[in-house]
Formats: sequence, C-alpha cells, structure tokens
Amino acid sequence: MTSPIWHPFTQHGLGEPIPLVTRAEGAVFHTADGRRIVDAISSWWVTTHGHNHPRIMAAIAEQAAKLDQIIFAGWTHEPAEAVARGLVEIMPPALTHVFFSDSGSTSVEVALKMALGFWANQASDRHRILVMEHSYHGDTIGAMSVGERGVFNRPYAPLLFDVGTVPFPAAGREQATLDALEHYCRATPAPAAFIVEPLLLGAGGMLVYTPAILAEMREICARHAVLFIADEVMTGWGRTGTLLACEQAAVVPDILCLSKGLTGGAVPLAVTMATTPIFEAHRSDDRARMFFHSSSYTANPIACAAARANLAIWREDPVLDRVAALGAAQQSQLDRIAAHPAVRNPRRLGTVTAFEIDVAQGDYLSAVGPRLLHHAIDHGVLLRPLGNTMYVMPPYCIDETDLDAIYRTAEAFLNARD
Ligand SMILES: *Cc1c(COP(=O)(O)O)cnc(C)c1O
Repeated sequence: MTSPIWHPFTQHGLGEPIPLVTRAEGAVFHTADGRRIVDAISSWWVTTHGHNHPRIMAAIAEQAAKLDQIIFAGWTHEPAEAVARGLVEIMPPALTHVFFSDSGSTSVEVALKMALGFWANQASDRHRILVMEHSYHGDTIGAMSVGERGVFNRPYAPLLFDVGTVPFPAAGREQATLDALEHYCRATPAPAAFIVEPLLLGAGGMLVYTPAILAEMREICARHAVLFIADEVMTGWGRTGTLLACEQAAVVPDILCLSKGLTGGAVPLAVTMATTPIFEAHRSDDRARMFFHSSSYTANPIACAAARANLAIWREDPVLDRVAALGAAQQSQLDRIAAHPAVRNPRRLGTVTAFEIDVAQGDYLSAVGPRLLHHAIDHGVLLRPLGNTMYVMPPYCIDETDLDAIYRTAEAFLNARD
C-alpha cells in the first residue's frame, strides 16, 4: 500500500524512494532496511550536539511524567521559567524578554508583529519591512513575504506583502547594500524594521558576508530608529563558531529569533527575544495594546524541558571547543576538495562549509542537486544540496571517519561527472 503522507518539499510525481528511519544516535541514523546514514546536514540544520543526546532525552522523559501541556496565556510552569531565565543569562543583556512559539517561521511572524505593534502602540505609521536579497525566513505567509521570491513561492505571490529589498553584500559590492539600506531608512514614513540572517544566508545558498557589513547595517538602522531583527534560527547555537553569529560583529539586535538548535534539535520550540522598549510599548492597563499572538502549544513543557537541558549543556560542556574543533576539521576537508576542478567558491563559516559544483545552469531545480543527493544516500550519507550548492553542516559530535566519508562521497560524485 502506498503511504497517505504528503511530504514537505517533495515532488511525489518523481517516485523517488522515501526511506523509513527507525533510530538515531550522534551524527548517524539508521533505516528499517538496515542502512547506517551519516547526517551531514544535521537533519535540516536542527541537530547541534547530536541525535538522541542522553541528557536531552532524559529531560524529555522526566518532564513527560510530570506535566504534558498547559495553557500559557495567564499560566506558567517551571520548564518555561527556567528556559527564559537561562536565555536572558546567555544571550545579549539588552534582550530582556522571551516570547515562546513553535518553529522558526512562527518566531519570525512574532518578530514582525512585535515590530509593528511597537510602532502602532506609539501611534506611528511605520509599517514597512526591509529585507536582504536571497534571504530565507520560513514558509508561512509573513515569513515568505520577507524572504526571496522565486519558484518556491510564486503561486502565493498575490498574498505576500510588499517589502524593501537591499542587495546581498557580495564581496566588492558591499557599499551598494549600505547605500540601499540608508536610502530605504530615509523614506517617509520610515520603515518599521529590517530583518536579516546574520553573516550566513542559509536556504539562499549558504552565502557568507562579513561581520563589518553586519555591524554597519545595524548602525544605519540604529541611526534611523529602524528595529533590527536578527533571524538566528539557523545561525544560532554555535553554528557559525560563536553562540550567535551577531557576536562576531558585536551586534545586539532589537529582536532575536531562535529555534532549530534551541532544544538541541530534539523537539520543536522557538523563541523571539525582545528589548525592554519593545515589551514596554505593549505593556499597559489597556487590553487593546497587548501582544495579540498565541498558539495552542506555546511553551509546551516537554519542549521547554529539552531546551532547559540544552542550556545546561551550553553552561557545563565545552560546546564552543567542539565547534572550533569541527570547524578546523571541516576546513582541512574543504581545502582538499577545493583542489577539484569542479569546485567553485569554497567557503566556511564556523561549522558550515559550502561550494558550488560547476554546472551550466545553476538554479534550484537543476539536476546536479538531486543526483548528488541520490549518490550520497547510496553511499550512506545524507546530503541535500541547494541547487548546485553543496554544503556540509554536521552535528558537532561527528567524528573524523564520518566527516571524511561525507567528503569522499562528494569527491566520488564529482569524479564520476568528469
Ligand atoms: C529554517 C529557518 C527558518 C524557518 O524555521 P522553521 O522551523 O523551518 O519554520 C527561518 N529562518 C531561518 C534563517 C531558517 O534557516
């Protein structure tokens, strides 16, 4: 019998096999037909310390025996309180408030609503959102509106709101980005906010830009009182070598979106952190000024228990040392494969490496991506190229042997194409 499941980002008409996964540990998972697969993309960028981390799994089990779920409007619980306190401790001090939601996309929706609420509650008509070219912020309507337009969202374009888009600050063209941002910020009415993926644009093709530009963009926004929203859903939790990518530019955003690694990648949870002025703009004795957002599972206790365990791991384990070691191991693998004639623009930021595979047409639907994906699975590696961009983003616990297997598999694919 065929499965009734409609999978995400999957063209069922191609009849590609969909393996059944039974269990995972560390940097690998296992399939029902007995295969061991190296998770080279951290199960779509979520797994940080490794799959089935004993401490996170224990926290989930312990919490599940106590309290499964409770309404969060007007009620609270210790796992959520501990996570909020832990986040305020570990994140930049200006981010004093924590709003829970369930996914990266919803953390972005919340950020956009906070920004508009901030201005509306001050009787300001600021409402425009500024974005960066090639950005990705999620797949809900608001998140798509602030992301790159293309084949992914063309059918929904009539529902997407208008934004101001600054060009991606590619090396040598940074000034155009800063000029465009300055230009948009000077408009009347001024924009409400600028949302950006700090240093590394993920789904846009693992595009990297410099801390200096991030700092300058933040400076321009501050000068025009345009709220600065950092979407660290992918870059957060050590991915780029530091807890937050923003740290590398000494940037503190007004609003910060976190998800993916918030629970170590074990269960879904997200937060949007905000500064005191943004919280205060909503605080009043007038119910009409409250922040109008909730979802059924806001701050689910079991998910919060996982996040609390993740925070404890960050406090007590040398996570950044592991991140640095993985970064170094990634760099030596990248240096080797970069010598291959089909490899273009090799780059690394923290634990992430990426390069383009030289092909004639480079859009997402080009065939090289799916062919590499299938080649890799046949060789026990989960890769999922973005068009002709191959990237490696493993869990921090991956060992040398499994990391080597990822690059050997990619090299074999490149050699077979010659
Ligand atoms: C993955 C991602 C999102 C969306 O997160 P979901 O949990 O998939 O909704 C948003 N922003 C960035 C930068 C992401 O990488």
